Amino acid sequence: MANQTADGSVAALYIVATPIGNLGDISQRALDVLRQADLIAAEDTRHSSRLTQHFGITTRLVSYHDFSSSAREDAILADLQAGRTVALISDAGTPLISDPGYSLVLRARQLSIPVIPIPGACALTTALCAAGLPTDRFVFEGFPAHKQGPRRQLFESLVEEQRTLIFYESPHRIADSIADMCEVFGSQRQAVICRELTKTWETIHGDNLQALCGWITADDNNRRGEFVVLVHGAAARAEEEMPAEVERQLRVLLEELPVKQAAALAARLTGLKKNALYKRALEISSAR
Ligand code: SAM
Repeated sequence: MANQTADGSVAALYIVATPIGNLGDISQRALDVLRQADLIAAEDTRHSSRLTQHFGITTRLVSYHDFSSSAREDAILADLQAGRTVALISDAGTPLISDPGYSLVLRARQLSIPVIPIPGACALTTALCAAGLPTDRFVFEGFPAHKQGPRRQLFESLVEEQRTLIFYESPHRIADSIADMCEVFGSQRQAVICRELTKTWETIHGDNLQALCGWITADDNNRRGEFVVLVHGAAARAEEEMPAEVERQLRVLLEELPVKQAAALAARLTGLKKNALYKRALEISSAR
């Protein structure tokens, strides 16, 4: 059972999403939790104090980031075990999404400390919902590697991926990254660059990768700020059509043999791939 605090809320580790630009995007629940928490663990206390000051929140801020000592993490966990409420925030958006917090959440859960998410802004979902690319299935790849070699290797491993691809990118590497995407995914692949989401210079610009290479270098302003890049997934490969004569042979074999043997024999007779013949043989026999 979760510990109850004096005001009736649950003593827990709260994972609190904060805005990715526009301060109006903070939720009422996030404000309540930040106000009522015993302490706020923040990636950068100086950065987050601007947010807390803006909303008149006086809760003590302590620093917690990926390079924090394990003693700092132990101290936060000890506070939680003593029944205190801790709110984890990052510099922007949802903690743990390309941001610190994974180890703290894992250890809290291992210690049966309640971990309660307070949802809100996140750059990847903000970009995805406005990009006009398929949203039913997508892959988030975080930041591509800084160096060209591993970055291209990552893109090459994703060439056949049919789900929408989502990347975070910095202003220093956006042009090089788009150029590598163009080379690896092909100049005609559709993509969308989302820049400065929820901020004054918000830009959502979609085109094929070749055109985006031109756009990103055409104006220095296009390379300023924070970026999410979305790339259309690869087109599904059209099924190779079975030649009519092979289809006929397969049907004859299926009249005398089980699916597996018919496919194996057809593969020996025709030189075609056993897998493709097996798949087709299954279709034919289940349609009978
Ligand atoms: N935790 C954050 C979230 O929920 O999206 C992401 C943190 S990650 C360190 C920062 C990166 O997110 C930026 O470099 C950029 O790629 C992306 N990002 C954050 N805010 C953004 C914004 N307003 N517009 C576009 N991209 C943004």
